Amino acid sequence: MKLHDLTFEKFIDEHEIEKAISKVSAQLNKDLKDTRPVFLTVLNGAFLFSAELVKRFKGACELSFIKVASYDGLTQREDISTVMGAEPNLKARTVVIVEDIVDTGNTIEAIIAILEKEGVKQIKIASLFYKPEAYQKTYPVDYIGLEITNDFIVGFGLDYKGLGRNLNHIYKLTSTQDMTNLVLFGPPGAGKGTQAEILKRNYDLIHISTGDVFRYNIKNQTSLGMTAKSYIDKGMLVPDGVTIDMLRAEVEKNPEAKGFIFDGFPRTKAQAKALAELLNSMGTEVKAMIALEVDDEVLVERLLERGKSSGRADDANEEVIRNRIKVYYAETAILKEYYQAEDKYYGINGVGSISEITDRLSTVIDQL
Ligand code: AMP
Repeated sequence: MKLHDLTFEKFIDEHEIEKAISKVSAQLNKDLKDTRPVFLTVLNGAFLFSAELVKRFKGACELSFIKVASYDGLTQREDISTVMGAEPNLKARTVVIVEDIVDTGNTIEAIIAILEKEGVKQIKIASLFYKPEAYQKTYPVDYIGLEITNDFIVGFGLDYKGLGRNLNHIYKLTSTQDMTNLVLFGPPGAGKGTQAEILKRNYDLIHISTGDVFRYNIKNQTSLGMTAKSYIDKGMLVPDGVTIDMLRAEVEKNPEAKGFIFDGFPRTKAQAKALAELLNSMGTEVKAMIALEVDDEVLVERLLERGKSSGRADDANEEVIRNRIKVYYAETAILKEYYQAEDKYYGINGVGSISEITDRLSTVIDQL
């Protein structure tokens, strides 16, 4: 089944949803029948679930609605803004936040902050779906219909870019097992950029170099560029939040990609986790991290040589170069262990002619 550009497959049958709703309703009736709760429905996705819960609730209750902007296509944004306030007066009331899905927990957190300001008596959370692997907060989700894997789902009120809410079953994004997502790894000057340019043509992949994107933004004096520049000039890493948001935006610009070559990303564990989450939400994953291994002194020599023509300030100064290599060992090299633990790490000798190194890389990619 196709919605916009993406293909979805059936995941949860409507009978299972029905059972989950009955279970949650029974618990709500047992715990809250005499508390005259306000069911606070989180629009738009929770409208169907909420209607079913309210129909089954045996005590007195009131309704309220809140709309928050949180999803950007496939991924949940960090910044949440309330679009519509809650009413009636919630002071000293028992409020049940009715959610279709609790994912990272960012939406729940934003709503709880609003409710706490209103002075409510107690907050309960009822969610039809809950993704334990994605949840990053500590508020207990009191009533859960079904726990699900970290897949992107649509149906029964949930949408992908506006479509799919009217589907009676739940569908998940079809996993695109054939996507070739590679992390090209290695210290600065290892030849990642050069090799990525060749591999992207040979394998028809999208090459994302975070360094290049930063440099483009610096050249065009965007606010992202301004933020990044102060770090880059010193050979330091740009903060994770900024880098991750940028990477996500680059990936989402290419919904039809057969795969990506990530060059210069991830550089920290937080970035590696964010990448896994992003690809997972698209039904795919990192296939391999391929590292180009090159001796430090060779790197310094190469970068100084490149600095003569690249126009890059961070290539022109030996001290900055050595700091970049130091940062690599201090903050980035640990990712080798991260991908080794997933059996995805491949080390390649990065010294030799360009075509020799391409051959070594292709041997690995062809086996994946
Ligand atoms: P590169 O072109 O990959 O050598 O990157 C140049 C500079 O951009 C680095 O020294 C960092 O300051 C910044 N940068 C590039 N990618 C990242 C990343 N994934 N995380 C943080 N900073 C980055």
